[in-house]
Amino acid sequence: MSAGGRVLAVPATADRDYPALDRSVRDGFAIRAADIPGPFKVSGEVRAGDAALVELHPGEAIEIMTGAPIPAGADSVVMIEHVTRDNGNIRHEQAATEGQFISRRGEEARAGQILVDAGKRLDYSDLAVLASAGRASVSVFAKPRVAILATGDELVDISAIPQSHQVRNSNVYSLACQVARAGGLPEVLPVARDQEQHTRELIERALTADLLLLSGGVSAGKYDVVERVMADLGAEFFFDRVKIQPGQPVVFGRVRDRFFFGLPGNPGSTMVTFEIFARAALELLAGQKESVLPFALGRLTEPFEHKPGLTRFLPARLTGLGDLARVPWKGSSDIPAISRANAFLVADADRERWNAGDTMPVLLK
Ligand code: AMP
Ligand code: MG
Repeated sequence: MSAGGRVLAVPATADRDYPALDRSVRDGFAIRAADIPGPFKVSGEVRAGDAALVELHPGEAIEIMTGAPIPAGADSVVMIEHVTRDNGNIRHEQAATEGQFISRRGEEARAGQILVDAGKRLDYSDLAVLASAGRASVSVFAKPRVAILATGDELVDISAIPQSHQVRNSNVYSLACQVARAGGLPEVLPVARDQEQHTRELIERALTADLLLLSGGVSAGKYDVVERVMADLGAEFFFDRVKIQPGQPVVFGRVRDRFFFGLPGNPGSTMVTFEIFARAALELLAGQKESVLPFALGRLTEPFEHKPGLTRFLPARLTGLGDLARVPWKGSSDIPAISRANAFLVADADRERWNAGDTMPVLLK
């Protein structure tokens, strides 16, 4: 029960054929297709849970329920809705093919076959498969520990009453939620001041975790010290700028054998860059074989224009019918707008204008 959401470490195989015998997928009658249209003499019944003991002879029909074993001698099932009754006999006027409404032994899986691969994040259908195969316990990968380190002299704890020049440290909360959702164990560190020595001390503490997420301190400002501190620690940088908005200054690297992301501190940038980059890294680190961003397509309810050059991820609402509307927002710090959105529309860097009715990809929240 507790394996849902965890990543399977050892493949799970089928303990027997699925289904274990030929069985009916309809309520009706087991017959021989060659005897159609009848009349058929109803010679017995077989229910789900009965062992396959009854036998069908030419000209006979055996009443059968969904899930019940196909009697020996029968080669098809006809639906109860399609038979007519006539003095204890039945008739079936429509044609029927051999094998219809029969689920064959082993057609879903053969004994010994892999049912769920290692590296799969277990969803509800996987739990049903494992339960069917009698797997009361399974091996899963440990959750990666993810250190979350916010930087910024303006930050105060959420229990504080901030002065007008201060903001509450909300990023560690959104990140902890995103980390948990992606299968990691969030560990929030104290806020690092915008000062090299203090930031370095906290990064060194954070490096006991499997992955490090920093928020803030990666822009071009004089007090954005994260990259400098990382370079001093001998970090390797894979990228430190991406042509997206929000989130352009995002940094990805490795330091002392640990991967880290320097996520820009504006809350919208932090959220979007986590989803686009850090989430995949975390999922792969957690043992998943693949990581897929949840994109969908929406139909714009209004025209949309932007300045080409950057791919933009903007808060939007997608309805159940596929209509896509922007949520007005004032930029990367506008958390209430992101909260009202259920997706980010994705505006291609190479295109300037979309008309109402055009489709556009969205990244689901
Ligand atoms: P930075 O990326 O460090 O330049 O931060 C940009 C802006 O994001 C800051 O001016 C803050 O308003 C905001 N910010 C940074 N860190 C956080 C945080 N942990 N929680 C909420 N807002 C933040
Ligand atoms: Mg800062």
